[in-house]
Amino acid sequence: MPPNISAMLIYLLPLMAIMGLYIFSQQRRHKRSLELLREATETGLLEPASLHPLINESLCIGCKSCINACPEHDVLGLINNIATLVGPSNCIGHGACREACPVNAIDLVFGTATRGVDIPLLQADFQTSVPGIYIAGELGGMGLVRNAITQGVQAVDCAAKNLRKCPNDPLDLVIVGAGPAGLAASLAAKELGLSYVTLDHESGLGGTIAHFPRGKLVMTRPATLPLVGKFQFVETSKEHLLAFWQDVVDKHPLNLRFSEGVTAIDGDITNDFTTTTTLGQFRSQRVLLCIGRRGTPRKLNIPGEDLNKVAYRLQDATQYAGMNVMIMGGGDSALEAAISLAEQENTQVSLCYRGKAFNRAKFKNRERIQILSQEDKLTLHMESEPTAIERETVTLTTPDGTKVLPNQAVIICAGGVLPTAFLQNIGIQVDTKYGSR
Ligand SMILES: Cc1cc2nc3c(=O)[nH]c(=O)nc-3n(C[C@H](O)[C@H](O)[C@H](O)COP(=O)(O)OP(=O)(O)OC[C@H]3O[C@@H](n4cnc5c(N)ncnc54)[C@H](O)[C@@H]3O)c2cc1C
Ligand code: SF4
Repeated sequence: MPPNISAMLIYLLPLMAIMGLYIFSQQRRHKRSLELLREATETGLLEPASLHPLINESLCIGCKSCINACPEHDVLGLINNIATLVGPSNCIGHGACREACPVNAIDLVFGTATRGVDIPLLQADFQTSVPGIYIAGELGGMGLVRNAITQGVQAVDCAAKNLRKCPNDPLDLVIVGAGPAGLAASLAAKELGLSYVTLDHESGLGGTIAHFPRGKLVMTRPATLPLVGKFQFVETSKEHLLAFWQDVVDKHPLNLRFSEGVTAIDGDITNDFTTTTTLGQFRSQRVLLCIGRRGTPRKLNIPGEDLNKVAYRLQDATQYAGMNVMIMGGGDSALEAAISLAEQENTQVSLCYRGKAFNRAKFKNRERIQILSQEDKLTLHMESEPTAIERETVTLTTPDGTKVLPNQAVIICAGGVLPTAFLQNIGIQVDTKYGSR
């Protein structure tokens, strides 16, 4: 072989190998992205919950910076060398993709052309269209833990202006929600010496954080909490974050009332507000809503649903050890609850769903449920509907007729009722966004 060809080959071969590897990895990424998009389409999980990236395909150069920057998994992929939202429902609006894009091909928007997202109209001081009622945190459209904390504190500062001096009736402020926004707002209210109460229909603090999957990595940014000081976290776990909040509340006791949902708010800024809860009423000069966007758990409205053994989410699998538990629902949260319980020793688990198949759940959850069912670790009741929950049984209507099954605990995972109707009943104006800010 002539020496100049040998020399060329020395350079060409590694170059071709690198090119080959690059093309192979591009094809693999393309295939995986297509698979993710297909799964999202099949399960109907194509609608992002809130703020999400809108990619301008004509500007995208396929550099993958957005994919690498996204702290969540399987949100963005590369299809035909163009960034694509392949897991819309996994997007929680970090916005890191937009910051990373070198050619400004990403915009962050609410809603899509087919699904509007309702965002309440707010003034710069967080006041809604009803004077005296304020909104902070994710409900106002701004997701993420740090934003919720910052807004909760700022909203209380604004709401505290021009209050009349009243000893305790009416209260200065009712705060609804004990997620990051509501907790930060409660600390701010305490620091300002306001009379206040914080109400949450959950049995514990943390809001949406408490619903994160076990061990979820939480990406956030430092913020300052009243009475506490710097909230230092950048990267932490769900469990650490909840433990942090619990420690804050232990050191700075707040007027928190759990398992008390707010059902209505009446009145006005001149005559004070009356907040009606599942347990009573509170009068206050101002109200701050920090209720997030998950809404209230959807009820089945069947007899016995108010029994103590009924819950609307799986908080801690170990509390059900040794029990006979039925999960009702067919989405990912129902399947994930059933999986956690069935994988635990000594727990009898059944899953009741009205559909023929779990079409609305992710493939990996459907697959795990099938395996657990084949291993007799889980009993499936498909095409079945619960008609009553009794102290020691549940009654189902099934294709084989009515069944009365022994049961010690029920977890209903039937989704949530979005807060829009609640806001509209209070008189708060909301705007529906279809792919815009
Ligand atoms: C899967 C997932 C992963 C996420 N990961 C991250 C992350 O890594 N980093 C990050 O910064 N953010 C993350 N987020 C977003 C973050 O959790 C939210 O932005 C944040 O919790 C919003 O706080 P909030 O206080 O506004 O509302 P929430 O945390 O939703 O709290 C609202 C509270 O209001 C209560 N409530 C609602 N209605 C009523 C009612 N009628 N009466 C009484 N109480 C009521 C609820 O029970 C709840 O406790 C994630 C979200 C999800 C879903
Ligand atoms: S960072 Fe921008 S240019 Fe690069 S892939 Fe993502 S959207 Fe396309």
